[in-house]
Amino acid sequence: MDVKPELNHTEIDIPAELRQQVTITTLERIYNWGRSNSLWPMMFGLACCAIEMICTAASRYDFSRFGMEVMRPSPRQADVMIVAGTVTKKMLPNIIRLYNQMSLPKYVIAMGTCASGGGPFKEGYNVVPGIDTYIPVDVYITGCPPTPQALLNGLIALQEKVKKEQLKESGWYTKEPGKDIPVPVLGPDIIDPRKKDLIYTETHRPEPTVVEENEAAGEDK
Ligand code: SF4
Repeated sequence: MDVKPELNHTEIDIPAELRQQVTITTLERIYNWGRSNSLWPMMFGLACCAIEMICTAASRYDFSRFGMEVMRPSPRQADVMIVAGTVTKKMLPNIIRLYNQMSLPKYVIAMGTCASGGGPFKEGYNVVPGIDTYIPVDVYITGCPPTPQALLNGLIALQEKVKKEQLKESGWYTKEPGKDIPVPVLGPDIIDPRKKDLIYTETHRPEPTVVEENEAAGEDK
């Protein structure tokens, strides 16, 4: 067995001839080592950045080397959400719903300038200025789009973060691990599905006749 040096408890000396077979470590270290090497991303993408994410999973870059090859189509089986692409107001409620459905501990990577801060569409009427306004982000990756190497670097940064977590401070073992994030309703320029009946009534109202328009104008005076 090839023992990872990072797993060894450095204060305890292991005889040289046993170092490839034996390791002495702490519960916390082996727990974080196991988790950091099996971070399963959720399988979804939003825009062009998703193509780079797909490349990172394919044979040339192959993030299965880091234990991340099992991309899950269900949020309930995923550890990390890679927000890969432009976050529109239309998609935001779905992203938050998926985030809420992920079990703890869960992590978020904002991949690319769109997910990190709105990117080239920041002033657009239909784009939110970064996913971190709504859900907590652990790692930001710059670029438009970031290269597969940049995504790998971000995933490795997330692994380093996981390795530094402490069991006794882990939010997911407390009695109050956190509440779901409310799904926002954004601005007048998107449709609030809860008002669909009102929207239907308003948009299907017959055009007023000339007489009705004149009457309405008279009332205004
Ligand atoms: S950051 Fe660039 S490549 Fe990525 S989704 Fe936005 S526009 Fe596309």
